[in-house]
Amino acid sequence: MTSDLIRVIADFPKPGIIFKDITPLLADAKALNDCCEKIASYAKDVDYIAGIEARGFILASAVAVLSGKGFIPIRKSGKLPGQVISQSYELEYGQATLEIHSNLVPAGKKVLIVDDVLATGGTALASVELIEKASLIPTCLVFLLEISQLGGRSRIQAARPSLQIQTILAE
Ligand code: AMP
Repeated sequence: MTSDLIRVIADFPKPGIIFKDITPLLADAKALNDCCEKIASYAKDVDYIAGIEARGFILASAVAVLSGKGFIPIRKSGKLPGQVISQSYELEYGQATLEIHSNLVPAGKKVLIVDDVLATGGTALASVELIEKASLIPTCLVFLLEISQLGGRSRIQAARPSLQIQTILAE
């Protein structure tokens, strides 16, 4: 699979960012299905599929249905109505926080985490820490694509050497 259906938009949402827009891929029925099937192929040994807000939700929920597993939303702070577990992390400028509902699923279950893009790896690593704080086991991270020059993969590997990291689209 190639990244032909990823639209590259310069200077969005701010100057200097090369934004990878996945909406053309989402609009292509076959490409969307192929990507979700490929992600689902990594879901055989897990119990749940977690998606990172917002674009990770689209892929992860489709993968959850395809693979017959439940879906766990990893949300930006302040959106979940119940009791939450939080994990903050550093952005280029400032801080962000991700949350999941506490006691949503039984402790000790294995979780596959899905997002659209791996850039610096900060969001993915915070998601891994969040899943661990919830007494769950993150076993694999899957991204549609990776901006390899930003070093996210090595950052995650350094922090969690046994975690599998998969990307679906070639650059
Ligand atoms: P990072 O924490 O730096 O790995 O950033 C990953 C998160 O930010 C993912 O949830 C992506 O959706 C989003 N993101 C970061 N950089 C880009 C980019 N260049 N194009 C599209 N999404 C991006």
